[in-house]
Amino acid sequence: MDIAPLRDAVSGSVLSAEDQGWDAARVSHAGLGRPDIIVRVGSVDDVSEAVRFTAAGRHEVVVRAGGHSAWCTLDNGVLIDLTALDTVEIVADPEGGALVRIGGGARWGDVARALAEHGLGISSGDTASVGVGGLTLGGGIGWMVRAWGLAADQLVGAQLVTAEGEVVEVTDASHPDLLWGLRGGGGNFGVVTRFDFRAHDLPGVVLAQLGVSGDARRILAALRDTLATAPRELTVTYMDVPAMDPSAPAGASIMAVWAGTDEAALRAAIAPLLALEGVVENDLGVREYPEILLDHPLPPPDQQMPGFIGGNTLVPSLDDDIIDSLVAFRESAPASVLFLRSLGGAFGDVPQEATPFPARNATWFAMAGAFDIPGLVDDAERARLAAEWEAIEARGAGVYGNFSTTTDPAFAHRMYSAESMAELAAIKAKWDPRNLFSRNHNVVPAV
Ligand SMILES: Cc1cc2nc3c(=O)[nH]c(=O)nc-3n(C[C@H](O)[C@H](O)[C@H](O)COP(=O)(O)OP(=O)(O)OC[C@H]3O[C@@H](n4cnc5c(N)ncnc54)[C@H](O)[C@@H]3O)c2cc1C
Repeated sequence: MDIAPLRDAVSGSVLSAEDQGWDAARVSHAGLGRPDIIVRVGSVDDVSEAVRFTAAGRHEVVVRAGGHSAWCTLDNGVLIDLTALDTVEIVADPEGGALVRIGGGARWGDVARALAEHGLGISSGDTASVGVGGLTLGGGIGWMVRAWGLAADQLVGAQLVTAEGEVVEVTDASHPDLLWGLRGGGGNFGVVTRFDFRAHDLPGVVLAQLGVSGDARRILAALRDTLATAPRELTVTYMDVPAMDPSAPAGASIMAVWAGTDEAALRAAIAPLLALEGVVENDLGVREYPEILLDHPLPPPDQQMPGFIGGNTLVPSLDDDIIDSLVAFRESAPASVLFLRSLGGAFGDVPQEATPFPARNATWFAMAGAFDIPGLVDDAERARLAAEWEAIEARGAGVYGNFSTTTDPAFAHRMYSAESMAELAAIKAKWDPRNLFSRNHNVVPAV
């Protein structure tokens, strides 16, 4: 690979294995990988140059923003690292309120801090280090999902570098199909160098952290019943994790977040939970939104996460049987996790056909899995867990690709309905007919 011309053409840096910095630059949640080159772009023009170089040489390419997906590294080929494109600009929305223009490599923690200074917020995920790029393009379930919908639901425009290296301004008026695809269709259509979101007023939030002990089935049924009638300002997550998982304190807990600073309203909404035996209030109070985003930085190079046997499912009706199956799955494996996140509210107001995101009728998102630790999990146990998860997943109404760690090329067909996939494939054929951007939950171009 002759990289000298690319080095001359870009303002950012082009690192190969011989260069200082390459080793640190390849670290990601997905592992290290051995990319031939890492292009740390410094501008939109750099992205165009990197894409043209990749397309001309027919190299494989991966696009990285926050680096939290299973896709953000590769062996051989080109890694386009967008992390320097991290600006956050607030402008007046011609339709009232504020628009926020965010660089394609920004992370949600930085965005939340910049917006909080202006009393604004955007529905993001729950973690500060996650990238705006991957999360938004796949959907984005966060603390404001019931109040405002997915991150992708607030996306009103984008700047995109196409597979030919051209820069396109995407709006609903100019490219309605492409904008539709960007609201959940993943990184299939080009490199997004800027995301335009409609922001919401957010003076702060109320956070409650509840410790949970005792019968998980009883607590989850009460959580379901509470959320069935709760105001949409309330979003909750139930987590049950072993000590080895860095994403939350070990054991079962509930985090409840109210979109706004009305502490009494949150207390009233979660009163049935607080009255339950086995639920203790560990913390409750008004916070700035950036404060409640969790921190989950990239692992050190020599410490990669083990595999995960399980998955996720979008659940329209969290009945007692599904609760029982989820809890039984968690209880059957010592090193396993169970997460449940409330949906409904604004998430469910969006018509199914308005975005490619599946299962707008879901009221809960469930994710469970066992860590594939050598010595703890053998082939028979692996097969049992996989079969059990498959049976649970089949009872949901769809899977959410962003929380999948699989790089199975067929997985995208489980993520989208046949109608959405056909539409995504047609958009792909128009914008990336050679499937340059294939290292993602891939949409194969329609023929
Ligand atoms: C600790 C942790 C917490 C998480 N929390 C949440 C959560 O609360 N809610 C939720 O919904 N999800 C969450 N996720 C899942 C997360 O949404 C996905 O992993 C997502 O892909 C991460 O985006 P990223 O930019 O950090 O990752 P990356 O790996 O950098 O990007 C993922 C993929 O998206 C594409 N991509 C990214 N940026 C661009 C761009 N600008 N242009 C074109 N393509 C691009 C590329 O295909 C890339 O491979 C979490 C994941 C982790 C590991």
